[in-house]
Amino acid sequence: MKKQIAVLPGDGIGPEITEGAIKVLQAAAEKFGHEFSFQKALIGGAAIDETGEPLPKETVEICQQSDAILLGAVGGYKWDNLPGDKRPEKGLLAIRKSLDLFANLRPVQAFKSLSNASTLKEEVINGVDLMIVRELTGGIYFGEPRERRGENNEEVVDTLHYTKREIERIIEKAFQLAMLRDKKVTSVDKANVLESSRMWRETAEEIAKKYPEVELEHLLVDNAAMALIRNPKQFDVMVTENMFGDILSDEASMLTGSLGMLPSASLSADGPGLFEPVHGSAPDIAGQGKANPLATILSAAMMLKYAFEMKEEAAAIEEAVEEVLEAGYRTADIVEENTKVLTTNEMVEVVISYLSQDKKAADAISVKR
Ligand code: NAD
Repeated sequence: MKKQIAVLPGDGIGPEITEGAIKVLQAAAEKFGHEFSFQKALIGGAAIDETGEPLPKETVEICQQSDAILLGAVGGYKWDNLPGDKRPEKGLLAIRKSLDLFANLRPVQAFKSLSNASTLKEEVINGVDLMIVRELTGGIYFGEPRERRGENNEEVVDTLHYTKREIERIIEKAFQLAMLRDKKVTSVDKANVLESSRMWRETAEEIAKKYPEVELEHLLVDNAAMALIRNPKQFDVMVTENMFGDILSDEASMLTGSLGMLPSASLSADGPGLFEPVHGSAPDIAGQGKANPLATILSAAMMLKYAFEMKEEAAAIEEAVEEVLEAGYRTADIVEENTKVLTTNEMVEVVISYLSQDKKAADAISVKR
């Protein structure tokens, strides 16, 4: 299969980790007989420096013409003092909005070999495998009006706005994903207080009728926050609106304790999806070869699975990552006793060796050091 992939490296460690993921995608293409081509474009601080805008029009056009988008991360000290709508992070919000990326998927999977990285007890996290599905383009982050008002600006308003259609499409996406997983959807809302949540709950009930094999449960968001820590293994797919999802997905990501390991996908109804690590641009370690490329490599695996329906290819990358960790290879952020610390590039090379089932090459990389 031939696929065109837009690559937006962004800032900080973005260029290092996207370069690593491109190499892994090329190795997967070679192994399974596909042809991937890559076109780079600017976003974030790098785009501000070049063009004055965090998301140039040309970048949006390149993304629209591609089959999928791989993003590193944006932001850094250099641009921290710019006004809100000129900051690198604005580029992220703008690309989500312009490509209508309404469904943000964040899988949380505990790697057995990294169970020490979590602050939670091993028996709580071992076996955790859940997917948070967050609505990404509506709700209080986008609703109007949003303003300070009154005589001395001592009044403030933000607006939580959703249409029925926006709620339907994200809940439908959660049910579709549950059909591919353990067939359970937990819908999270605040229906005891918010009218928007009452519409959310009714809509979830309506959509559930189309999926009789899928179990649906409703949880209030405060209860969901507790349950995620108390017994995360009870969850399969958790679906929620934009702001609840922002908070819960960060909470859930900490179940694994390792930011450098967490991938994500943002999908639209029929356009290209965007795949990126959960972590930021880590300006404190940029350019030092210390960045963990695994979250970006796992995001590339999500691209294969969700954008190209290449399940076997995605699984091969995920297995290679798991085996590399089991064999004791680590980057500095996840290092433990009796493990081998690798640089960003070395970790990429080791993953490729495992993907190509050439473990001797992996040993050679660590012996060389
Ligand atoms: P961060 O995720 O960049 O870093 C937090 C800590 O984790 C740092 O100590 C960093 O070194 C470490 N870290 C993160 N990713 C790592 C990796 N792959 N390997 C090893 N260590 C890693 O969050 P922050 O420090 O709050 O933000 C830094 C910049 O990133 C800010 O400008 C922020 O706005 C931006 N940011 C961007 C995104 C995005 O592009 N999606 C997300 C979050 C933050």
